[in-house]
Amino acid sequence: MDLKSLIRDIPDFPKSGIIFRDITTLLSNSAGLKYTVDSLTQKCQALNLNPDYIVGMESRGFIFGPPLAYQLNAGFIPVRKPGKLPAAVHTIEYELEYGTDSLEIHQDALDHGAKVLIVDDLIATGGTAKATAELLEKIGSQVLGFAFVIELTALEGRKKLPNLPVISLVEY
Ligand code: IMP
Repeated sequence: MDLKSLIRDIPDFPKSGIIFRDITTLLSNSAGLKYTVDSLTQKCQALNLNPDYIVGMESRGFIFGPPLAYQLNAGFIPVRKPGKLPAAVHTIEYELEYGTDSLEIHQDALDHGAKVLIVDDLIATGGTAKATAELLEKIGSQVLGFAFVIELTALEGRKKLPNLPVISLVEY
């Protein structure tokens, strides 16, 4: 299936000069959604990735993470922007192009040594995925790899990540 034909390009969003890859048109297509989740599942299985948990980042990691977790018989754990999770959290701060941002996870979300696969809709610079991996390693979980629907290859985000499997379905 040609997933690119279901992903909508929005020029100059969120700011001038950026082409936003909009997955809402992929999500609303029943065959496209099924194909996306099935393809991520198959690629994980082909690499023998058997996570205890899928960790998905706010907010589009919350869309693809849970169906992939269901398929792989794993649990799902959200990583959120600051101030959103209700119980005690661990926090990681990371650099953006201008300034910094933070991500949080519940302190009791994972058992020490749990095997985790990190999932998001898209990898651009890799900063979000790298920070998530660092957060997980800091709290003693074992990151098995990363899975994305879309990879913006020119930004070379995967080079920032630890030397682990990186799955993506569509490259721009
Ligand atoms: P990175 O940290 O630079 O790799 O950016 C990845 C994060 O930004 C992910 O959480 C994406 O959801 C989001 N993102 C960046 N560009 C796009 C886009 O074109 N479409 C959808 N999400 C994007």
